[in-house]
Amino acid sequence: MEITALLLLVVVAQSFAMPLSSPEETDKWLLAEKYLRRFYHLGAGLQGTPTHRSSDNMQAKIKEMQSFFNLKMTGSLDANTLELMSMARCGVPDVEEYIHFPRHLKWQNTNVCFRIMKYTPDLKKADVDRAIRNAFNIWADVTPLTFKKLHEGKADIMIAFETKEHGDFNPFDGPDGLLAHAHPPGRDIGGDTHFDEDEHWSKDSDSYNLFLVATHGFGHALGLSHSSDPGALMYPVYSYGQGYPLSVDDITGIQALYGIRMWALNGYSLVEGYPKYIHKLGLPKTVWMVDAAVYIPDTGKTLLFSEEHYWSYDEKTNNGQWLPKIH
Ligand SMILES: [Zn+2]
Ligand SMILES: [Zn+2]
Repeated sequence: MEITALLLLVVVAQSFAMPLSSPEETDKWLLAEKYLRRFYHLGAGLQGTPTHRSSDNMQAKIKEMQSFFNLKMTGSLDANTLELMSMARCGVPDVEEYIHFPRHLKWQNTNVCFRIMKYTPDLKKADVDRAIRNAFNIWADVTPLTFKKLHEGKADIMIAFETKEHGDFNPFDGPDGLLAHAHPPGRDIGGDTHFDEDEHWSKDSDSYNLFLVATHGFGHALGLSHSSDPGALMYPVYSYGQGYPLSVDDITGIQALYGIRMWALNGYSLVEGYPKYIHKLGLPKTVWMVDAAVYIPDTGKTLLFSEEHYWSYDEKTNNGQWLPKIH
């Protein structure tokens, strides 16, 4: 009895003196450290006793992560923060490494080609092909980009299902955790998109949905970074949802890189089939911004004003012409 009481006292005394020394606490900090290194560029050199890990740098990075996910910025590993850190997600960092990657990397050519190098055995080959094609179509619908599938040779976007370390110093981690990652546009490995073969891939909600993860991954391969909008496809944490996967945030992001925002709104909701890529109406590629648009019922014409010109578009004939503004 006395021995038990003494042991309890020792344990209590230790837990007050070194609050991070319990195995559970140490595990939390190890998880956080790994997460912040990977996704928030927490610098190396924080090893040491757990107490040292609560350095200002670590706290600042926890706050940065909390800020990104719109959590309360406590700087400590509270339950919400730890829960987010344990969710299945994309392997691309949430903050850009400005030193290594200049911002706004994009494909200079609108014809982007892709090739599936390694398939997953989880799905039929045709199902993988369909998921990948549908994922590209999502981005093609709102940009001037077209995606061509290659069966041999080097494509802009090389796609593969891989496990653990697979040649790009971005190792996968077994089941759950990291699901996929993609490299930003560029030569060689640029644009390449990898899926973790240790996940089980599905075409529905049974396990990780390949179409959704691929659409997210291709967002990176086209130059997008993560969004902190939980409704955006470019949110880093995986969630399954049916229906049109892009949010206004995703579309605004991709069109800032590749082309204009033509929207049709009914009240506050988007009309089906919109947004459309504006140049598909025939507008000159030099037009970057539309100042105003008006539909004239009498003539059946839509006028789009941009700087010193306007585009007169005939709804019936699908024809338009570019005219100088009359002052
Ligand atoms: Zn991502
Ligand atoms: Zn990889």
